[in-house]
Amino acid sequence: MTTTLPPATSSPPPADRTLDDRALELALANPQLRPAAEKLAAGERLGRDDAVALFESRDLLAVGALADARNRRRNGRRVFFSANQHINPTNVCVLRHTCAFCSFARTPKEEGAYTRTLAEVLEEAGRAKSAPTREFHIVGGLHPKLRLSYYTDMIRALKAAYPGVHVKALTAVEIAHLARIERCSFREVLLALKEAGLTSLPGGGAEVFGRAVRMTIADRKLAGEDWLEVHRQAHALGIPSNCTMLYGHVETLQDRAEHLLILRGLQDETGGFLTYIPLAYHPDHNALGEELGWRGRATMGVDDLLNIAVARLVLDNVPHVKTHWPMVSPFISQVALDFGCDDLEGTVVYERVYHEAGASTPMEMNYDALVDLIRGAGKTPVERDSLYRPVRTFD
Ligand code: SF4
Repeated sequence: MTTTLPPATSSPPPADRTLDDRALELALANPQLRPAAEKLAAGERLGRDDAVALFESRDLLAVGALADARNRRRNGRRVFFSANQHINPTNVCVLRHTCAFCSFARTPKEEGAYTRTLAEVLEEAGRAKSAPTREFHIVGGLHPKLRLSYYTDMIRALKAAYPGVHVKALTAVEIAHLARIERCSFREVLLALKEAGLTSLPGGGAEVFGRAVRMTIADRKLAGEDWLEVHRQAHALGIPSNCTMLYGHVETLQDRAEHLLILRGLQDETGGFLTYIPLAYHPDHNALGEELGWRGRATMGVDDLLNIAVARLVLDNVPHVKTHWPMVSPFISQVALDFGCDDLEGTVVYERVYHEAGASTPMEMNYDALVDLIRGAGKTPVERDSLYRPVRTFD
């Protein structure tokens, strides 16, 4: 299968001057936001200090208006979503006791540990009821014994059973783990997955690149440089990918700003990122929440919206910004559509990872409910495939 990468930086459609002018006027009136607003008005890129000032600001409406104007220049009123299905083949993970924020992983003999057979994965893949699945989103733990062939067989079997469905599978952390197990390079793992039918990579595992943060929440996980290298190699092979940041734990606002600038730097180099997804930390059933005293400190609405808006403004070269409703709630996600966000997480069907961490949102979203949610925000729902090609537009 050949996958064509989107252009590195697609030039935005003509500006909605009125909207942009109004947003700039609002931001220029706030001394804290003025330097960033002046740069945006001059067509310059935002820097680290601008990003920190935007994150620090509690002038949510001014930051949101700036991000909304920038998003509308690219996407108009369109909001993308997908009929997708999450599949987590195993929760057994060699880093079970070292990623302090994770509620999903288990040791092989721990209660609740599971590893699906290929037949079980295929059975689970047929569960979507509200619409035919167009994308399987496959991520899981770093199993000590599962070989690369377990995943290539799975992708081939899914492609055979569901022709035309895209497979977005394996985080950079899982790719690097498989390279270690197989004693081969990242590139060789990626090539084998691509040959089996992989469409794209999800963006998980980036967490926060800052070393102090990584040492605190994930000290044995793939280093930030290696996460970037896996994505760099994927892009070089024509495999597009997605990028994330896990926010709302021990990171500082400077850490957040630097993380975004590092992602923007790789995008300048390769153009292979499709979308950025800010992921909200949930404090239940994980070491960070229960042992380090972080319990009860889930992110709040203002921060969730700021993370969308600041990303839209800083990541000027990433085509899409997605809101993940299982983490922040469908209601915050709907509001995020006016804060610079053009992509809503899809039907999902069975969400395990964040529900293990205490998310109180539904496990799945019915296709029609997703369309209603987007329409309720006054936007135009566009069902897309994994590569953001429109499949169905609801006028
Ligand atoms: S975050 Fe990923 S790598 Fe870390 S323990 Fe959880 S499943 Fe394993």
